[in-house]
Amino acid sequence: MCSLTRGSLSRRGPDREGWVPRIGTSLCDRSAAAITLATVQMNQEVDVLVVGGGGCGLSASIMLSDHGVDHLLVERHPGTAIMPKAHQLNPRTMEVFAHHGVAEDVYRRGAPFEHNCAVRFYTSLGGSEPWHRRLLHREDAWSGGALTAHYRPLTAYRHGNLPQLQLEPLLREHAEARNPGPGPLQP
Ligand SMILES: Cc1cc2nc3c(=O)[nH]c(=O)nc-3n(C[C@H](O)[C@H](O)[C@H](O)COP(=O)(O)OP(=O)(O)OC[C@H]3O[C@@H](n4cnc5c(N)ncnc54)[C@H](O)[C@@H]3O)c2cc1C
Repeated sequence: MCSLTRGSLSRRGPDREGWVPRIGTSLCDRSAAAITLATVQMNQEVDVLVVGGGGCGLSASIMLSDHGVDHLLVERHPGTAIMPKAHQLNPRTMEVFAHHGVAEDVYRRGAPFEHNCAVRFYTSLGGSEPWHRRLLHREDAWSGGALTAHYRPLTAYRHGNLPQLQLEPLLREHAEARNPGPGPLQP
């Protein structure tokens, strides 16, 4: 039995992302969450416990499910990342995602390749003075432009570009689709 338990640690109603949590605490009340979590763990036996539902934990849950491994994922926060954090996904990561049926969704939701093939440096992104929004430098980046010839023999997958803010909910969708968990816990 596997459970993805982000958002499952509060009884105060939906959190700011609209999830309906299960037992006990809020973002500011971590110690209560830990106690509740300990109780949950004591009552449930799994082969693998994944602690943390960031990119690694969510990916691990997907992979464990795909390999038929019994596991439980626990997360202390009620939702996925609220900061954009990382956004570039290198080809090796995309290969792994492709192996687990996630890559196409990442490409579909992420920046299109034509917007993910170069880096540009500007004096600013806004403003109307003459020195605003002036391009200082541009160079090919990731597997774009002149770099495509380098990457093409190495991998069948181009870079992805999806901020962690959006990647984690996507990974969560995949993780929960494979293994939705036991449902709300009883008080
Ligand atoms: C502002 C910012 C910008 C970044 N930009 C980039 C970038 O451009 N490129 C790049 O490659 N990387 C970047 N990073 C780093 C990247 O975000 C991290 O490397 C990545 O999040 C690590 O993933 P993770 O799953 O290992 O850990 P985390 O994302 O840290 O996830 C760990 C999870 O475990 C949970 N947790 C921890 N302890 C417990 C516990 N005891 N019980 C339950 N849950 C627990 C945490 O709440 C968290 O959700 C950035 C990070 C930040 C903060």
